[in-house]
Amino acid sequence: MKRIALFPGSFDPFTKGHEDIVLRGLRLFDEIIIAIGYNSSKNKRYFPIEVMINHISTTFAGYPNIKVQTYDELTAEYARKFNAHFLLRGLRNTTDFEYENSISQLNRNLNPDLETVFLITSPELAAISSSIIREVHRYGGDVSSFLPFKL
Ligand code: ADP
Repeated sequence: MKRIALFPGSFDPFTKGHEDIVLRGLRLFDEIIIAIGYNSSKNKRYFPIEVMINHISTTFAGYPNIKVQTYDELTAEYARKFNAHFLLRGLRNTTDFEYENSISQLNRNLNPDLETVFLITSPELAAISSSIIREVHRYGGDVSSFLPFKL
C-alpha cells in the first residue's frame, strides 16, 4: 500500500524550513500532499493563497509524488479523504513541541488511523519562521534567503 503523508500548515509563506521537511519526508513516504489550510470566509493571510500554490508547485515541479492542495476542514478528515495515514510536521523547539503534542493527540483521537510523524529541523533552518518573514517583508526587508523561490 502506498504510504501517503499530509503536510498540513498555513505556509504563509512556505519557507526553506518547510522545503527541507518535505524533501526529507520523501525518504519515508511514497507521496506527500502539502495541504495549505485556508479558511475562505475568514481570509487573514498575508501572502495570497494562489501566489503560494504557484510558488510551491514550481518549487517541486520535478517531483510527481509531491502535491499541493488547499483545504478548509478538519485536518484529520481531510487526511482520511486522501487515504493519508500520516501527518508530517516539523519541530524546531520546545514551543513547537508543546503545540504539536496536543494537536497530534487530538488528530489521532479524531482519526485513529492517523499517525503524526515529526522531523527535527535542520539546525541551519531552525530560526526560519513564517511569522518573522511576514514582518520583514511588511517593512520592505529582503526575505529571499529564507524562501525556496523568488517572490
Ligand atoms: P501552522 O500554522 O500549522 O503552524 P506553519 O506553516 O507555520 O503551519 O508550519 C507547518 C509545519 O512546519 C509545522 O509543523 C511547523 O512546526 C513546521 N515548520 C515551520 N518552520 C519550520 C522550520 N524552519 N524548520 C522545520 N519545520 C518548520
